[in-house]
Amino acid sequence: MEIKDCVIIGAGPCGIGAAIELKKLGIEAVIIEKGPVGGKVNIAPRVDNYPGFTKIPGPDLAFEFFMKAKNNGVKIISDEVISLTKEENFVVECKRETYVSKTVLVACGTKERTLGLENEERLFGHGVSYCAICDGHFFKGQDVLVIGGGNSALKEALHLVNICNKVTLIHRRNEFRGLNHLVDELKGHANAEVLTPYIPLEINGGDSLESVKIQNVETKEIREVKVQGCFPLVGQLPNSNFVKIENVLNEWGTIPVDKKMMSSVAGLFAGGDILPRDIRQIYLAEHDGVVAARSINEFLKGE
Ligand SMILES: Cc1cc2nc3c(=O)[nH]c(=O)nc-3n(C[C@H](O)[C@H](O)[C@H](O)COP(=O)(O)OP(=O)(O)OC[C@H]3O[C@@H](n4cnc5c(N)ncnc54)[C@H](O)[C@@H]3O)c2cc1C
Repeated sequence: MEIKDCVIIGAGPCGIGAAIELKKLGIEAVIIEKGPVGGKVNIAPRVDNYPGFTKIPGPDLAFEFFMKAKNNGVKIISDEVISLTKEENFVVECKRETYVSKTVLVACGTKERTLGLENEERLFGHGVSYCAICDGHFFKGQDVLVIGGGNSALKEALHLVNICNKVTLIHRRNEFRGLNHLVDELKGHANAEVLTPYIPLEINGGDSLESVKIQNVETKEIREVKVQGCFPLVGQLPNSNFVKIENVLNEWGTIPVDKKMMSSVAGLFAGGDILPRDIRQIYLAEHDGVVAARSINEFLKGE
């Protein structure tokens, strides 16, 4: 079987950024992508923090990624990776074919953990958002609800208090998973309200979000919070189930790397949203891809 120099798993900003850089360095990488090129950028309603565009709808930016990859002759195979193992080289088993490669870049990203409530999917992009850092400014001067008790939820709520009229944060327990000083900081803002232990029951609205029904877990009291924005920030699920090599994933299923983007296994690199980090953005993923590409080049030369 042919041994490839590099297989990249995922054609989001990290994978595309890496493949283009590798091409410039004279390395033919192959990307395996199970969905549309551009990854999560396809579902970003509007991106306004990407240099080169004042603001651009996510799907249009994803199309630019696709064109950039195509014009640079990047090879993208439409398939889903179901297992990544290591023998002498890495073995990337997909639904249709299996590839053997000297190096692998895991750029498979994460998926948002949703609440699973009726109307949540329908109102996504019409009031419901999973990224306050990205979409918060669409709710300038409005009332919003943040759901979650981890550092991401707290930090994103702190981002929103500077933009929105009122930020209500609910968490299902009285204790927070996130850092205490973030909770205190949030409570210190006059336009912030922290309610515990509350869970969301219903997301309501016609063409756009109008209110969220919440319930106190202890007293069973139900309230309707009138909001224009709702940010369920209850965690990300890494797309890393296919990684079958020991000591690569941490306990959360993300992949710790060194400053060269190499994991604990030589020749196995990772970048973008699959890394353990609080802030997940397009430019960070692309940056990781470029750094990983240069490290892959060094690694292959050092062989
Ligand atoms: C609603 C929303 C709005 C956002 N808005 C912004 C914004 O305005 N600005 C900003 O900077 N960031 C924004 N982001 C974040 C940004 O989209 C991500 O940080 C970025 O896309 C991460 O890039 P990535 O390459 O690491 O992963 P992804 O973009 O998630 O790409 C990973 C790719 O891997 C593929 N894949 C996964 N598993 C497999 C497998 N087993 N086999 C084959 N392929 C696989 C996936 O299909 C996907 O295409 C937003 C995110 C969301 C959800």
